[in-house]
Order: sequence, then C-alpha cells, then structure tokens
Amino acid sequence: MYDTIIVGAGITGLQLGALLAADGEKVLVCEKSSRVGGRAAVVEKEGFKVDYGIHVVRYGPHSALAETCRRIGHEVKFLPLGTSYVLDYDGKTKVFPTGPKAFLTSKLFSFGERLKVLAMFSKIRKGGHEALMQQSVADWMAEHNISGGLKRYFHLVSGSMLVCPFVEKASAGEMLTNMKKVLEVGVSVMYPQGGWGPLIKLFTAKINERGEVRTGAAVEKIAVDGNKTATGVYVGGELIPAGKVVLSLPALQLDRLLAGLVDEAYLQMCRRIRPTSGIVLDYGLSSPVSDMNGLIYLYEPMSFGMFTSNVDPSLAPEGKQLLTWLQPLPQELFQDKAALKAKEQELEQALFNFFPGLKQAIQWRRALHLPLVDGVEVNINQTASQRPGFIVPGFNNLFLVGDSTGAPGAGGDVGHESVPLCYCAIKENARPAAE
Ligand SMILES: Cc1cc2nc3c(=O)[nH]c(=O)nc-3n(C[C@H](O)[C@H](O)[C@H](O)COP(=O)(O)OP(=O)(O)OC[C@H]3O[C@@H](n4cnc5c(N)ncnc54)[C@H](O)[C@@H]3O)c2cc1C
Repeated sequence: MYDTIIVGAGITGLQLGALLAADGEKVLVCEKSSRVGGRAAVVEKEGFKVDYGIHVVRYGPHSALAETCRRIGHEVKFLPLGTSYVLDYDGKTKVFPTGPKAFLTSKLFSFGERLKVLAMFSKIRKGGHEALMQQSVADWMAEHNISGGLKRYFHLVSGSMLVCPFVEKASAGEMLTNMKKVLEVGVSVMYPQGGWGPLIKLFTAKINERGEVRTGAAVEKIAVDGNKTATGVYVGGELIPAGKVVLSLPALQLDRLLAGLVDEAYLQMCRRIRPTSGIVLDYGLSSPVSDMNGLIYLYEPMSFGMFTSNVDPSLAPEGKQLLTWLQPLPQELFQDKAALKAKEQELEQALFNFFPGLKQAIQWRRALHLPLVDGVEVNINQTASQRPGFIVPGFNNLFLVGDSTGAPGAGGDVGHESVPLCYCAIKENARPAAE
C-alpha cells in the first residue's frame, strides 16, 4: 500500500514525490514511457548532455525549484549567464539588457527610450499588476506609447519570458508580475550546474528511499470508491492501492483519466487550455563557434537560444560546443507539416547567417517540432486564476500538479511553483476535520 501514487515522472511529479518522500511517505511514481524526466529529460548524445531544448531556471536560487531542493536537503549550485544579445531588426547585434547598467548603455534604445524604460521599471517594481491580467501586452504598450526599441524589447520579453511572442494576446499583467519578481530578486535566469540530469537523479533517489519510480507503467484508470475517494490506480489492468493520487500531467492529457469522474465543465476547461508550442534546434558542434555565454535573441524570426556549454562546459566534450534554440510558434501551425518545415529552414538559415562557421561545425543536429512546450500559454484568457487548482473538484484525495495549473509564473516556472502549492493542498487535506 502506497501513501501516494503520482501519475507522471516529469520534473514536477518527481519534485512533489521527493517532497512527500522527505516527510516519510512511501511514494510510487508511475511513468508510461521508458525514461523519467518528461519534457525536462536529458539525453546523452556523442558525449554531449542534451536538454530537451533550452532549459534554464528563472530566478535561479530564488526559484521554487531551488526551494524544493532545499526542503529535501540539497542546495543546487546555479551558474550565472553572461551578457545577453539580440540581433535586432536592423541587422545589428546589440546588448539585450538584463540588469540596470545594460539599460543605460544598450544600443537597443534611443536616449529618450532609455529614460522612459528606467521610469517604467520603478513602476513595474511597485507591483499592482493584477488589474492588467486581462489586458494584452499590445494594448498595454499602445496605452503607454511604447514604441521603437522599447517596443521590440517588450516584444522579446513576452516571447521569451512568457514563451508568447503574440503580444496581441499575451497577458500584460502576467508579464509585469514576472518582471517585478526578476527586479526584486535581482536574477533573471540561471543554469543548474551539471544540467537537469542531476536534479532528476536527486528527486528519483529521494523517492526510491522508501518508494519507487516505475517506468513503462502507464496508468489506465483511477480507482474511485462510492464516496468519491481515490483508492489507487490501474496499471496493466491491475489495481495498485494508495491513500491518495496526484496527477502530474499537462491539462490537455487529463481527459482520459478524469472522464466520467468529474463535471464536464471542468474537463472542458482543461481541454481548452492552450499550451505554448515551438520548434527546437539543437546542435552538437565539433569546434567552438561563439564565446557568447548569455541568452541570444533573434528579432526576426523571433526566437532565442544559448550555447549551453559556454555556461556549463561539462555538457560538451572538450573543445566542442552545444547550441540550443527555440522559436515559439502558434499552435495552429502544427497542423501543417510543410509550413513547419519551412519555419525550421528559415530559422536555421537565420542561425547560419548570425553565427559564421556554424554550418561547418555541425557534428549532429536535432530538430523537434513541439506542439507542447509549456503546459500553458500565459495569455489573457488563461492567467493563473483561470486555470485548474491543485485539488480535483469533488475529491479530497485526488490532486493536480504541473505546468498548466493555477500556480504563478510563466513557462516552466508554473510547474515548479505548483509543487509547493500542491504539497500544501495535500497537507491541508490530510488534517483531521476537527483541527
Ligand atoms: C523546448 C522546451 C523548453 C523549455 N524551457 C524551459 C526552461 O527554460 N525552464 C523551465 O523551467 N521549463 C522549461 N520548459 C518547460 C518544462 O520542461 C516543463 O514545464 C516541465 O518539464 C513539465 O514537467 P511536468 O512534470 O509537469 O510534465 P511532463 O514533463 O509533461 O511530465 C508528464 C509525464 O507524465 C507521463 N504520462 C503521461 N500520461 C501518463 C499515464 N497515463 N501514466 C503514466 N505516465 C504518464 C509522461 O510520459 C511524462 O513523462 C521547456 C519545455 C520545452 C519543451
């Protein structure tokens, strides 16, 4: 008998499992595929440690991910990124500011824009952005007469921070709330030393102390008794009993497991959640192509990436380099394979133009067309309060964690932030009613 069964061994299911295991719980994590990590899985390729596309940790040591690690007794060492750059619309490479000094010097802005951005930042820092949750970034920029380099700056922030360059629907309130936190903690993004592999191992080892992370174990059904209490899950037709069940899946994948157990309205809300989507290009390079060690942006086609091995050299064999790139794209495009292929070629050509020597240095290349990047696109119709919570309605021991829940943040942060919130919901529900 397990205390908890978690469906899905992605990074959030593993984090939650580790937290519960640290409390002494016997946890079973069921993973349908043959490997753990889900969308944060790392593969070894010819001596390179390759993330599933660009994978940085927003707020570094101030992130929910770092805090979860601390709770299980591990302090993650985060590596800082260097100066970020953007290849601007005029073909010039300019510093993409991530700190106060760069705002004063970056050629992305005119003198007037520089003064304006500094004034705006002191306002952003003050907060109160809740009223702007349903206002689009485009409308917010128009209202504040944001134009020129400043407009391109916020467009890129929306594209990278929210993974939503579609400013006519990206939420201004969400973008500004996230920027406020960056200003408060003084950290934009960092990279975990050694990559994501050690984090996955850390959580798995914690769970394995008393329980198990089982791969090749697709959960077919949730077992429920007459009192709407989850009693376990079915794997391979057999019931595995447990005191509670946590679904650690993107909302889009909940349908199969929750159909018939919850109101149709709840299922419809989950089905409607729109994820972010995009094309990933990863390159293992036989020789160094660039010494840039920060985030690098292309304004056209709007996309971003990094030489991950310039931040953490342990990810590539000696003398070689690892480059990763992501272009967020509208989900509708994923119906059209030819259009996607054209986008991939356009992006690759832009990278070849930007990095002379890249084409010649390619040892291997991986292209991924991903209809699901982050569990939720943080647009005006699906801000945190419009997304599912951590308890599946009607149940007191069936929970939800992951990157399409109502946790704060954007992109992968939603998943990491959902872990302590789901953990608290579990603990609250475990309290005797009299307490
Ligand atoms: C290209 C790319 C770039 C990204 N960049 C970043 C970044 O820079 N920083 C960041 O923090 N995040 C980033 N993310 C997002 C991050 O990867 C995700 O938020 C995170 O991995 C989600 O983890 P999860 O555990 O919630 O879900 P998932 O990783 O989707 O895990 C769900 C797991 O459940 C399993 N499963 C599904 N159905 C069943 C079933 N019936 N039974 C058993 N198992 C099942 C799946 O196989 C999967 O392993 C990025 C994602 C992508 C794709």
